[in-house]
Amino acid sequence: MLDNKNPYKTSISEYGEFGLIDHLTNNFIPKNTSTLKGVGDDAAVLDPKDKKVLVSTDMLLENIHFNLAYTPLKHLGYKAVVIGLSDLVAMNATPEQILVSIAVSNRFPVEALEEIYTGMHLACKHYSIDLVGGDTASSHLGLVINITTIGYAHKEEIVYRKGAQPNDLLVVSGDLGGAYFGLQVLERENSVFKVNPNLQPDLSSYTYILERQLKPEARTEIKSLLKEMDIHPTSMIDISDGLASEIIHLSQQSKVGFSIYEEKIPMDSQVITTAEEFGINPVTGVLNGGEDYEILFTIPIEDHDKIKHNPNFTIIGHATENQENVLITKGNTQRIPLNAQGWDAHFSKSKQAPE
Ligand code: ADP
Ligand code: MG
Repeated sequence: MLDNKNPYKTSISEYGEFGLIDHLTNNFIPKNTSTLKGVGDDAAVLDPKDKKVLVSTDMLLENIHFNLAYTPLKHLGYKAVVIGLSDLVAMNATPEQILVSIAVSNRFPVEALEEIYTGMHLACKHYSIDLVGGDTASSHLGLVINITTIGYAHKEEIVYRKGAQPNDLLVVSGDLGGAYFGLQVLERENSVFKVNPNLQPDLSSYTYILERQLKPEARTEIKSLLKEMDIHPTSMIDISDGLASEIIHLSQQSKVGFSIYEEKIPMDSQVITTAEEFGINPVTGVLNGGEDYEILFTIPIEDHDKIKHNPNFTIIGHATENQENVLITKGNTQRIPLNAQGWDAHFSKSKQAPE
């Protein structure tokens, strides 16, 4: 599909490096007052004013983190930005700038890059983010996208993975498992397609979970939601891998245990029905899947009443004294140790055969 066989597709070489960067980035107009200079000089110039600067970077590799057989390029661009923003949300910071480095082989026509940048532009607009720079290189193998995200917070606003105290409540935003089960559907349809390219799948009963996989959103509103509720989390992380490994990160960095309740884990009905269809326990998918980009955090137990009826959040357990005990309770009695199964979403996806 992406082989440059179509004579009407524009080859990257027709633009040259500078022309290409200008072509792809000229409609990204910086809007944030913290951006003093964006794309176009040797470095961007930013103004943190009286805040701390938070920086994070993510690398996405074709056939490891994404599969172009079923990932539309526009969605890929959007998702790449979202992944970066989510890390800043997880620190309770406000993301304001990104830098995008891209390595691409000449099998991609300029139109393919335009699609990726259209997705990035949509995300930048939606989240009020400025694209302030990047780098462009050629790749002999697959497509590589690296996103650096920059954000700001007052020192006292920043929330680390460490800081949870025994008895703190463990809270999650949104619902979980959608991205993982969406991926299962896409992988299955891709295998079917490889055998019979004429078969058109009916995906109408999977719309929510496919969107969770292909076009996730970053929970940038959480910082202000928590502020309005007058809640300051004691620890925080985003759920990019499975819920189990994120809870274990909080446990290890905060030096507390956790007790979580299986029946409290928020899941959409499409997650339940799709899990059933695949013969996978939905909770296993939530614990070991990934890419939901929801936020997991702890709050003091005194804040229970402030959050208990808020539809954006679900209390799924609490922190305990003993760091060795990270337990999940099934039903009324059965408590089993939670372990990150060494199966993060990205490694599981690397099982995909290279195209
Ligand atoms: P240099 O050779 O000094 O690294 P470049 O030609 O790579 O300069 O970049 C020129 C300008 O374009 C810089 O502002 C850089 O940040 C920006 N830029 C380069 N590649 C990209 C890209 N893929 N996306 C966004 N901005 C880019
Ligand atoms: Mg450069």
